[in-house]
Amino acid sequence: MKGFAARWGPGPGRLHGKWAAAAALFLAMLALGAPGRADEPFAPSRVYDLQHSTIRLAFDTDQLKIFGDVTHRVAMLRDAASRIVFDSVALRIDSVTLDDRPALYEVTPTQLAVVLPSPARRGDTHTIEIRYQGSPRQGLFFILPDKNYPNRPAEIWTQGEAEDTRYYLPTYDYPNDRLTTDTYLTVPPAWVTISNGRLESKTPDGKGQVVWHWVDDAPLSTYLISVVAGEFDRMDETWRSIPVTFYAPRGERDRIPATFDHTRAMLDFFSSTLGVPYPWSKYSQVAVDEFTEDGMENTSATTLTTRALLNPATAAEFPLREDDLISHELAHQWFGDLVTCKDWTNLWLNEGFATVMEYFWEEHEFGPDDAAYTRWNEARDWLADERVFPVPILNSNFKDSLEYSDNVYTKAGLVLYMLREQLGPADFYAGLKHYLEKYRGQNVVTADLVSAIEEATSRNVDRFFQQWIFGAGAPSLAIRYTYADSRHEVQLEVKQTQKIEGAVGLFTLPTSIEIVTAAGPKRFPIMVSKASESFAFPVDGPPLLVLFDPGDTILDTVQFDKSPKEWIYQLRHASTVPDRADAAVVLGEIPGQDAVVSALSDAARLDPFWGLRVQALEALGRLGGLRARDVLFAALDDSDPRVAAGAATLLGAFPQDSQVAARLEAVFRAGRFYREREAALIALGRLRSPNAYAVLLEAARTDSPDDGLRRAAFRGFAELADARATPLVLDWASPGKPIQARAAAIRALGSLDARNKDTTKRLLSYLGENISEVRRASLTALDERGDVSAIAPLEYVLNRGDLSGSVEQLGRRVVTHLRKVKDESVPPAATPASSN
Ligand SMILES: [Zn+2]
Repeated sequence: MKGFAARWGPGPGRLHGKWAAAAALFLAMLALGAPGRADEPFAPSRVYDLQHSTIRLAFDTDQLKIFGDVTHRVAMLRDAASRIVFDSVALRIDSVTLDDRPALYEVTPTQLAVVLPSPARRGDTHTIEIRYQGSPRQGLFFILPDKNYPNRPAEIWTQGEAEDTRYYLPTYDYPNDRLTTDTYLTVPPAWVTISNGRLESKTPDGKGQVVWHWVDDAPLSTYLISVVAGEFDRMDETWRSIPVTFYAPRGERDRIPATFDHTRAMLDFFSSTLGVPYPWSKYSQVAVDEFTEDGMENTSATTLTTRALLNPATAAEFPLREDDLISHELAHQWFGDLVTCKDWTNLWLNEGFATVMEYFWEEHEFGPDDAAYTRWNEARDWLADERVFPVPILNSNFKDSLEYSDNVYTKAGLVLYMLREQLGPADFYAGLKHYLEKYRGQNVVTADLVSAIEEATSRNVDRFFQQWIFGAGAPSLAIRYTYADSRHEVQLEVKQTQKIEGAVGLFTLPTSIEIVTAAGPKRFPIMVSKASESFAFPVDGPPLLVLFDPGDTILDTVQFDKSPKEWIYQLRHASTVPDRADAAVVLGEIPGQDAVVSALSDAARLDPFWGLRVQALEALGRLGGLRARDVLFAALDDSDPRVAAGAATLLGAFPQDSQVAARLEAVFRAGRFYREREAALIALGRLRSPNAYAVLLEAARTDSPDDGLRRAAFRGFAELADARATPLVLDWASPGKPIQARAAAIRALGSLDARNKDTTKRLLSYLGENISEVRRASLTALDERGDVSAIAPLEYVLNRGDLSGSVEQLGRRVVTHLRKVKDESVPPAATPASSN
């Protein structure tokens, strides 16, 4: 799975335009506190083995209801059991048979218990058929046309992970079991369906509907079951004679090629790198509207958010495309689906591998610089998060499965990257191949990976796993060196300064030192393991540059005591992106030195790697001043859209400068890239320049792909907080306007005309529409406005049960916050909903 939490860490400068709204929303949710959901850390003891389920589903789109009929085949695992218990939430059970006879059963709020006529014996098998109906508020979602959006494609989709399959299917709903499935979906003739496995048949049901029969004969865990049905466009390819199919909502077929173009190359790359060919009979990817995650790796049938679909008109502005998401979910088809974590405590075995495979794909397709830069950014974000630092990756003490997702995703991915560096690719991949083959079709814990690596390579990784997976934190290193000319020797002193407490210990770090002298670079392997130690290296002259762990392969914080001159040398000459980027960051904190500004200016113009140019610009942005400003002006013409847009964003921090506003206005009118033009609009709002209102007004009236300029204008208005914008923004917030633009307008209302009770009422009325993007935007705006008159109506909506899943949780947090505003006169605008 990949969700907001995994995609958007706290670091600055990571947003790209297309996703900025989603990211803003996520930040708003964070500010309101973690969602309150508890998935069990450990697997239950099994009473039976669920072997096969025949699932029949039909849908009532008027009532938002499902009608289900599921037949389970189970084999008893324990003597003396008196009941067979299934997870089942808020489903009305109409009838249950046991071995074709009516059965006694009990329904509780979370379970369906079928009573056995006599105590079970291990090995007994039973067939249980359950007929049921329900209106799921989680697990299964209806996206439908309504009076305001009559042409919206109809979509029904499920999201099982972590424990939500039970909301639409009474089943054994924990990963430590695997079953095969037959899935029959009854839908209108114009619809398509997508589910796990292969399509066996499509048959008219004689009543005007069509029954699609999907067969999955490769066992999976129930959180990986997927049901998608609705009006979709499709595109078909094959890979090694396996069908590879892409689906987008009806009308969006033109977005498929740019988005999914690399899928077959990824299948090749992962199959050959892992030495285990893609294990399923087909691979489909379907993009659905209002998906609760970014992506979900349902076995052979990945579901993705439509936010990931690239518009052909702007796709070229996203050189890395959405390959991180697409490679992540594809990697799960091996790590997660073929071999599945036994419990949520071991979730990193799914997510860490899916994350590191993103880096490997990026390295393979886009080159080592891009991959290293992604890793460098991820590591900085993780290291800055004090909340997750003291918690081990392998952690069962969570209230929510996303609570420590930055460890389970980001840190675990970086740790597995280190493991490849330390073992070398040959042993690393030999270990993975053995792990995948030995545990194919099984559920695993961390110890299984450790033993598989050792069995395949005779390499003992116990210490590595102890410090990085079972232990917490990361090393914090203070490093300095001296050069003794008489002995031609560099003396290096390394101290581990992280606080040794709890699960954070001292680290053992095999790495290397690179020393550059006039004669060239030289590398020396070293092993750091003590709180404080020194090393000596023979050199042929005074060092121009000393690098610890060249390329930043270790996840650590390093304070390296170097002169500005040496940092400048490093920025200009280090061969890897992370080493040059480190230098840019340090130099951005050294004010008042012309040489520093010159070096950063050169890097901003001349570094061959786009990300380095961005880092140099950020450093100049921090230093400020007219020279920095002029370099940012020049960068607006950079040939890379990410650099040009980055420069526009950074100029938003140069107030009281009419030239800046004039340049940004020119960028809006004539910039080469939409990303850059959008960034310029938001920056203008932030600057609150005299002309900003007029320019934003013009932008809000300008059509562009996916309303990108208009949405940016609304964010600009929110920054500007100028009440004159309110009527136009209210108009775009109205029902019937394109949903993305509408959501952006609604969010802007969070900071426009906040005292106006009529606007608050309007926002409340939007909660009556069954469109989660509109509901989320409205809740975020209500939260930011801090209008306590919204409390009672919000409580009414919540109690009536209109909102579902994470939207409901967001609603409850908004109520909590508004009550606080009321009780304690906390100033409103507690969320950064539209200010990043
Ligand atoms: Zn994932």
